Amino acid sequence: MEKVVVKNVYMNYHSLKGTTPALKNVSFSIKEGEFVSIVGPSGCGKSTLLNIIAGLLPSSNGEIYIDNEKRNSISPKIGYMFQKDQLFGWLNVWDNIALGLKIQKKYNKEKKELIENLLTSYGLKDFKKHHPDELSGGMRQKVALIRTLALSPEVLLLDEPFSALDYQTRLNISDEIYKIIKNEGKTALMVTHDISEAVAMSDRVLILSNRPAELKRDIKIDISLKDKSPLKCREHPNFRMYFNDIWKELNALC
Ligand code: ADP
Ligand code: MG
Repeated sequence: MEKVVVKNVYMNYHSLKGTTPALKNVSFSIKEGEFVSIVGPSGCGKSTLLNIIAGLLPSSNGEIYIDNEKRNSISPKIGYMFQKDQLFGWLNVWDNIALGLKIQKKYNKEKKELIENLLTSYGLKDFKKHHPDELSGGMRQKVALIRTLALSPEVLLLDEPFSALDYQTRLNISDEIYKIIKNEGKTALMVTHDISEAVAMSDRVLILSNRPAELKRDIKIDISLKDKSPLKCREHPNFRMYFNDIWKELNALC
């Protein structure tokens, strides 16, 4: 089933200096449970596209459908995870995770249990009372993901979620976060500028052109593995082939 449909989306930013076209006729869909990545040149319109799908930004033209329903406002089915973890330094891990639920007046017994289970399942049980500056960058990103999951979204949008992390942490945490997303049965759309990360984590990789971004390619990543994980994908014989294909395509754009 199609979980998300992006249909003929255009975006033009208007300012006193004139109009900046950012997206041009972008259409694609994502199936339930799929993990799709978006790559494209810096400044081409990737974050703009996620903001439009999230409902944070109205598009100039085009429609977004979630579960075949036109999305007209911010949808509770969508969770958004940003590049920076945006945890509040003065709140401990638990309170950071619970904050969004408290604001939405949904902080109840079930939600407390959900948070407890997520923290236990994903290795953060002993860090409930810790403050963000007592955690590593990777752990902070996991807390940010759990905060998003606590709102029970069905679709996760991730905008360069690992770019603030060092290489080693990035490899490990992307593996962990992939497993959490799959385990929780979420549909995911991730923006990244890291081709390896896109290939290792995704079922499909979408390549956007220079600004205004148009969809150049929609590449199915056919790497079948038992207990698939991003780290294992990197070892697969087909990995290099997909990497080179996307690399060439992106270079041709520059
Ligand atoms: P990416 O995430 O691919 O790096 P963005 O979606 O952030 O790119 O931005 C795409 C283009 O739109 C850039 O040229 C940027 O300068 C422009 N842009 C982004 N936000 C605004 C805004 N609020 N007003 C005007 N132009 C913007
Ligand atoms: Mg961006």
